[in-house]
Amino acid sequence: MERHTGGMPDPHLLSVARAAKGFMPDDEGLALHDAAVAAAQSVGGPLLEVGTYCGKSAVYLGAAARATATILYTVDHHRGSEENQAGWEHHDDEVVDARTGRMNTLPFFQATIEAAGLEDVVVGVVGYSLPVARSWGTPLGFLFIDGGHALDVAMADYESWSQHVKPGGVLAIHDVFEDPSQGGQAPYEVWRRAVHDGFEPLTRTGSLRTLRR
Ligand code: SAH
Ligand code: MG
Repeated sequence: MERHTGGMPDPHLLSVARAAKGFMPDDEGLALHDAAVAAAQSVGGPLLEVGTYCGKSAVYLGAAARATATILYTVDHHRGSEENQAGWEHHDDEVVDARTGRMNTLPFFQATIEAAGLEDVVVGVVGYSLPVARSWGTPLGFLFIDGGHALDVAMADYESWSQHVKPGGVLAIHDVFEDPSQGGQAPYEVWRRAVHDGFEPLTRTGSLRTLRR
């Protein structure tokens, strides 16, 4: 197979990813894409993301899934993390459902994936991460953890999902800040735990870290 190195192959996908609401800087999205392509080429798919939000990172990963003929599962209850709720730092009034006053990012995710033309590659799993992980059976070539960022939530995602990564597969963690003045410490604690558990650090791009199982 021809190895794909560096950058998104499709300018349309790149422009949809850049335009989508979310929390994925472009350089980190491209690094995420490249890490997923490399993992899928080495151990195969599928790819799985915890924390869909409006589908921004799912476009970078969906592009990787398309390039390697696999699929991306992306898990979210679409009700937002603590830090996305009204009054918190990462809140956006546009994603509040006027009927109920609760957050609902599902329609935004659907619109993003529709615009990207990735509906055949990106599978939205709507629900709470832990019950989905508990009944999950498919070994993963690539796992991206970007769900709730409270320590108990992030660590539970790691504990319940990392066991599904194939040997040689890749774990990616977002929002890893060694310096507490740069951001919350939970993803960094998860990264340290993964290293302690034997995951081998591979790359870092901004706050994105990748490790090999
Ligand atoms: N990857 C996204 C950002 C994700 S934000 C991007 O690129 O923009 C974190 C998401 O995790 C939120 O949408 C929130 O609803 C989801 N989330 C938080 N805790 C969760 C849980 N326990 N189960 C499922 N989803 C959860
Ligand atoms: Mg993030």
